[in-house]
Amino acid sequence: MALIHLLPDQLISQIAAGEVVERPASALKELLENSLDAGSTDISVSLVQGGVKQLRVADNGNGIAQEDLAMALTRHATSKIASLDDLEAVASLGFRGEALASIASVSRTQISSRALDTKHAWRIASNGSEISPIEPTALDAGTIIEVDDLYFNTPARRKFLKTEGTEFGHCEAAFNRVVLSRPDVAFMLQHNGRALSRYAVSEPTKRFGEVLGADFAAETIAVEESAAGLRIWGVVAKPTFNRNKSDTQYVYVNGRFVRDKLISHAIRQAYQDVLHHDRHPAFVLFLELDPNLVDVNVHPAKTEVRFRDGQAIHRFIFHSLHKALASPTGVSNASTAN
Ligand code: ADP
Ligand code: MG
Repeated sequence: MALIHLLPDQLISQIAAGEVVERPASALKELLENSLDAGSTDISVSLVQGGVKQLRVADNGNGIAQEDLAMALTRHATSKIASLDDLEAVASLGFRGEALASIASVSRTQISSRALDTKHAWRIASNGSEISPIEPTALDAGTIIEVDDLYFNTPARRKFLKTEGTEFGHCEAAFNRVVLSRPDVAFMLQHNGRALSRYAVSEPTKRFGEVLGADFAAETIAVEESAAGLRIWGVVAKPTFNRNKSDTQYVYVNGRFVRDKLISHAIRQAYQDVLHHDRHPAFVLFLELDPNLVDVNVHPAKTEVRFRDGQAIHRFIFHSLHKALASPTGVSNASTAN
């Protein structure tokens, strides 16, 4: 008797969900990325019980057409790439086509959406295993995705959830990472029915101050350098504004929040002479480069990247920050790095 069999689709999605939807905050990150990829300029997040009871993201983006709604919940189904060439030059935040399918397999998920230039909105729901027929609904524009009872059908995973406060903290951190990266988009966050923060469209430095506090904003040095197809911009805190934790460190590569050892090392090195070794610098930095020169398909959560030429990136970041930190005015704008 043969022992090897294909797993049912729902189980495959639930296995994938372990990586993509580690906790409510990771589901929120995926939903926010989808809203941004859809060109939204206004995104509202509402959470109940740290996002475990409910996670709801409403946007004013392009929406999903009626005929695409079921596909949106299907594994490996995406509107963002179609070929290996697309993957190698991916410009959107999402591309794997697995977030919604994974989320839907471990929760009760509803999508209501109205595609751009269409008259009607449609709604689809999944109860974790079955998808309901599509029905009409009322919505002016964009998409609302509501995720209820995360992990209700995967008790082993549910056990790993922490307290409401801890899960909310992770959600807020995920929200802030996105809010910092898109000052051109308005955001709103509420928890258990209470409005917590609202960000109007603004200039980057104003947004950084709103999210990270006036103390931080008052102590920053602007960074802006370009060389050999690389661009870095953002702010670094003066060495006098340092932290005992690495909790105010934001690095984005082509708009995507990443944790990258090479970049951290270059930043650390730039601060080496001006910062005590057990203190942590604070910064919000955006690195931009040709998407062909960076691989974002390293891990399902997409917070890791691999650079074609890591050493060049390291040198560029080190030189840019070293110069910014050394400049008496605190403003570095010449483009002689590298
Ligand atoms: P991916 O983002 O990798 O394509 P997802 O599972 O996150 O995969 O989403 C599947 C598809 O559903 C997307 O490719 C997109 O076409 C559509 N979609 C999801 N969320 C939204 C949204 N908020 N607005 C418009 N389209 C969306
Ligand atoms: Mg996505």
